[in-house]
Amino acid sequence: MHYDTPLTIALSKGRIYRQTLPLLAQAGIEPADDPETSRKLILDTNLPGVKLVVIRAADVPTYVEYGAADLGVAGRDVLMEHPGDGLYEPLDLRIARCRMMVAGLPGSEHPRDTRLRIATKYVRSARRHFARKGRQVEIIKLYGSMELAPIVGLADLIVDLVESGGTLRANGLVAFETIAEISSRLVVNKASWKMKHPDIMRMLDALRGAVARNEED
Ligand code: ATP
Ligand code: MG
Repeated sequence: MHYDTPLTIALSKGRIYRQTLPLLAQAGIEPADDPETSRKLILDTNLPGVKLVVIRAADVPTYVEYGAADLGVAGRDVLMEHPGDGLYEPLDLRIARCRMMVAGLPGSEHPRDTRLRIATKYVRSARRHFARKGRQVEIIKLYGSMELAPIVGLADLIVDLVESGGTLRANGLVAFETIAEISSRLVVNKASWKMKHPDIMRMLDALRGAVARNEED
């Protein structure tokens, strides 16, 4: 596998990096450093023109939209929070899968308050979900540990990502409804899509093949 133009790929540390790595290997790309141990923010790879930038998950769409990276891997949760249509989203990588859900203390799914308080880091998604249901809500923006909010009376409900439900259970919470099925998507800068089309198609085909093989086993 080779690429004719320089390519920069934006990834976040943690589960997305770990689960994207085997897919990238199928596209011929192997990082020269491990971001979990290295402090470098730009990682070289085995291919001279191909670099990885390792950033916060929520920053990936911004880097790709502005062309600081040609491609990126971002969760659908993050993309739902990123306004506009400034990105191409050609492939569901089917990794980092979970659900965006409404959760709370048992029995709190039909609160009597007319104005519900919802704690979440997913402000846009939560607002849209409750607007569709015709519920008036006050959104309380948090950056993490949403599970705590109902327990300490900060909110009636939370909107958060749920994988196994273990974290909810451990905190005495239950899930009430699913807002969206979440997985990570390949995102592509619109100018790169045109200017680097053959390379991007080559990578896209390789990734598509890797995703299909993953699904088989
Ligand atoms: P940061 O750690 O920078 O605040 P983050 O918490 O969003 O960002 P991760 O927890 O690694 O970073 O999540 C990255 C992406 O992985 C999320 O945007 C989501 O798409 C997916 N994800 C998050 N939590 C889970 C989970 N429990 N199971 C599966 N996928 C998840
Ligand atoms: Mg996290």
